[in-house]
Amino acid sequence: MNKKIVIAVDGYSSTGKSTVAKAIAHRLNYIYVDTGAMYRAVTLFCVQNGLIDSQGKISDKLKSLLQDIKIEFRKSDDSETADTYLNDLNVEKEIRSIEIANQVSAVSAIAEVRELLVRQQQLMGRAKGIVMDGRDIGTVVFPDAELKVFMTASPEIRTVRRFSELKAKGENVSVEEVRKNIEERDFKDTHREISPLKQAADAVVLDNSNMTPEEQLEWLYEKVKEVCERD
Ligand code: C5P
Repeated sequence: MNKKIVIAVDGYSSTGKSTVAKAIAHRLNYIYVDTGAMYRAVTLFCVQNGLIDSQGKISDKLKSLLQDIKIEFRKSDDSETADTYLNDLNVEKEIRSIEIANQVSAVSAIAEVRELLVRQQQLMGRAKGIVMDGRDIGTVVFPDAELKVFMTASPEIRTVRRFSELKAKGENVSVEEVRKNIEERDFKDTHREISPLKQAADAVVLDNSNMTPEEQLEWLYEKVKEVCERD
């Protein structure tokens, strides 16, 4: 397929967006961008700079410090995937912790944070040939994306998936804690005022509750083919 398109992948927490997005990017030789990592990196910046109080409230000071936040993705030496860097430091592991997951939805609800990151994301996709996953990619970042996918899976399956992922990374968490985090993030992400998570009218739904990663990749590849052959 010679034509390069934009593929927007949105959906609930822990539906396996990044797994399928990475796989299709690899197959098509596209760039993959994990926008959740960008919101997580801003959240880590807040934690490191004492900008979140004990009630989880974010200090207004963040707005004047946004210009000090540099987020990049750099290819790691030993794998094909990219790691997230915050101000030149590799923060890939820290941003995946349950502590960051518990705070990120509050940070991502701040208008100034979204404006900054959305602008950066739009620049990354200018040349097309990109797969971006998040919550507002098909609705706000790339409303004209040629292919929009909205991912969902049963809450039980998502909890088990995220729990296993965190355990494998050595995090000391309980299934209950993971379930609560997923439920709370979904609630906050779908109910926030600015760019809430919602299915774009022209998105195709992928419910992967009972699908293997390989089946999801094939499903998505067929959708890309349809789009490229149609246009
Ligand atoms: O995708 P991931 O679970 O890493 O995203 C972490 C959080 O970042 C989400 O729960 C959401 O609050 C926020 N996010 C967002 N918009 C995006 C991507 C992520 O608000 N495009």
